[in-house]
Amino acid sequence: MTAYYNGLVLQSAGARPSVAELRRPEVGPGQVRVAVRAAGVCHSDLSMVNGTIRPSYPLVLGHEAAGEVVEVGANVTRAAVGDRVVLNWQPACRTCWFCENGEPWLCSTSSGVASLENGVTLDDEPVHVALGLGAFAEQVVAPENAVIKVPSALEFEVAALLSCGVLTGAGAVRNTARVRSGESVVVIGLGGVGLSVVAAARAAGASDVIAVDVSEAKKGLAEAAGATDFVVSSDALSKEIRTRTSGRGADHAFECVGRAATIRAAWRATRRGGQVTVVGMGSNDDLVQLSALDIFSSARTLRSSVYGSADPDLEIPRLAEDVLTGRLSLNHLITNRITLAEVPDAFDQMSRGEGARSVVTIGQALLP
Ligand SMILES: [Zn+2]
Ligand SMILES: [Zn+2]
Repeated sequence: MTAYYNGLVLQSAGARPSVAELRRPEVGPGQVRVAVRAAGVCHSDLSMVNGTIRPSYPLVLGHEAAGEVVEVGANVTRAAVGDRVVLNWQPACRTCWFCENGEPWLCSTSSGVASLENGVTLDDEPVHVALGLGAFAEQVVAPENAVIKVPSALEFEVAALLSCGVLTGAGAVRNTARVRSGESVVVIGLGGVGLSVVAAARAAGASDVIAVDVSEAKKGLAEAAGATDFVVSSDALSKEIRTRTSGRGADHAFECVGRAATIRAAWRATRRGGQVTVVGMGSNDDLVQLSALDIFSSARTLRSSVYGSADPDLEIPRLAEDVLTGRLSLNHLITNRITLAEVPDAFDQMSRGEGARSVVTIGQALLP
């Protein structure tokens, strides 16, 4: 394998990322090298480009990916050359208080940091890799606990989505909110995560899945994901939801935007005693106002879902199985198959709220 490979590098916040020739690091003890075959364009990538998240630069972007193990370092036991794997940007340490308490998604020592150096260089200078991975690249070197084996029958593109967007969305439904058969669900914000919530809610047997977005253009995607209703967001949203839920409001609302206004809309869309699950990551200065009386008398629950409240080592193989058996359908999520050089255009599309997931495919025929 050659010492050089292509990766998508961001020089500074606000800059346009471009493909550069990187020099690969050695594979150390406990590490593996993965040839990336598919990588999804996630909203966190865009947040690093537009400066909402401030990692260190220059930075190899990308973290939602799947590929094939091509080299293993000394003492590696979790993976072997030839394994098909999903990359995990937040591998749990298994020794901190949260891990031992059964909440590995809250691991206090995991490598889920925005950026770190792992020996990748560009023109002999070290560059950082996003979320410990830098997966918009032909290869990634990562610790062995950052790879999760999946069946070789699972397509790389779908496998990639499992590692971030689908785990987040499906985990919010299954682990955080624990949606039950026959319940009604509202989903606000239909990007890759929101559409995963729709698909998982439907798979969980929700009777009504009301998908909400500011863009009418999301209607087709919402229906393909399994939504029973589609509503364009407006000031009259809670009234719209009530008319579709016997006047009560929904049992569950999932907020997949990360804004105070949509968290309030999700709150108002649920029934008395309903559950509001915040999946979107918002900003520190966007305050959610709820009255003390409303909090008491509505008897609602408001909670967040971090990384799907999931243990990825257990949940990703389960999701892979659900995809392979047809219980969970994700094909509608992939709206564009692109090259590394086309990722900046995919960011533009995402900023405009268009499409679902764009997926970079590497080393395989680009499908139309
Ligand atoms: Zn992501
Ligand atoms: Zn831990």
